[in-house]
Amino acid sequence: MRRLPVYFVVDVSDSMVGETILQVENGLRTIVNELRGDPYALETVFVSVIAFAGKAEALCPLTELYQFNAPDLPIGEGTALGSALEYLMRDIDQNVQKTTVEIKGDWKPIIFLFTDGVPTDKPGKAVDQWNRKYRRGCNLVAVSLGNGADTGVLTSLTDNVLRLGETTPESFKAFFKWVTASIKTSSMSVSDYGDDGIKLAPHNGIDLEKVGPGEPSCAMDESVAVIPAKCSSTRRMYLMKYLAQIGGRFSFEGAYTIAGEAYERFSSSGKKRLKINTQNLEGAPESCPCCGNQNAFVSCQCGNITCYGEGVAKCPWCGFEWNGLEYGGNFDVSRGRG
Ligand SMILES: [Zn+2]
Ligand SMILES: [Zn+2]
Repeated sequence: MRRLPVYFVVDVSDSMVGETILQVENGLRTIVNELRGDPYALETVFVSVIAFAGKAEALCPLTELYQFNAPDLPIGEGTALGSALEYLMRDIDQNVQKTTVEIKGDWKPIIFLFTDGVPTDKPGKAVDQWNRKYRRGCNLVAVSLGNGADTGVLTSLTDNVLRLGETTPESFKAFFKWVTASIKTSSMSVSDYGDDGIKLAPHNGIDLEKVGPGEPSCAMDESVAVIPAKCSSTRRMYLMKYLAQIGGRFSFEGAYTIAGEAYERFSSSGKKRLKINTQNLEGAPESCPCCGNQNAFVSCQCGNITCYGEGVAKCPWCGFEWNGLEYGGNFDVSRGRG
């Protein structure tokens, strides 16, 4: 049987935390459920999910539809597009069956790349390799979720670059419907006509527009600032997300608990962290999202952020113990690079 491999390469950088990552998680579930009801897709489509932040890793290897379970998405620091491409190319080498004289291999893989940011590594080498060896043998659709992605680098990878303008739940829902429809028509086209060019569904009525090379694109990931923190009671991690306002200031959007182990695994190691001064941040969580402590934005002498209730507390980052708080609102804190 000739398989139709479908890869979802998903940016899980810290700027995606909150509503966006939930929408993508739900979206992947919906796509798979919908495709299972489609006889063509059920027969041909195999799905894989690769997540990338500072590092890339497959959450599910290529799996036939009826066995596929959409994974929970991790969150990490960084947007290593170069590493994601390298990971994808290796995976294609290892897992997609090539056509030889003896056997007809898999159909051209379809790859949906979702990103909301600007690469934090130098993807140039991976981009070259992609264009030399993989581009013609794959159908890559790159989608900027919101206006923060570097569409310049995306248009150097594929002719199919789209921007989802609005990132509301309704907009995401319509968008994932479109992804599903595109996979359905493509799997029908390979089954009936042996044509494995991608067949993108029409996107009227969706806030999705095609982006060409040379169009203005975002070069700096300044639409959000994300501050990593650890709960002093539960030692769990949480992220505080701030949205950019005019004048270089950021206003508090939400605090979210995340899986700390996955954060470590998907974050770039050894990179110097960006700093932001708390004077540029407006607002803070009302309480720690992990334990409910009254103060969720407390800076330890080690430079990391934790929560505090009362009495003696221990910094979950460095082990330093203190009793009581000193208030003061002007210090530098580490932030992710989106
Ligand atoms: Zn806490
Ligand atoms: Zn500390």
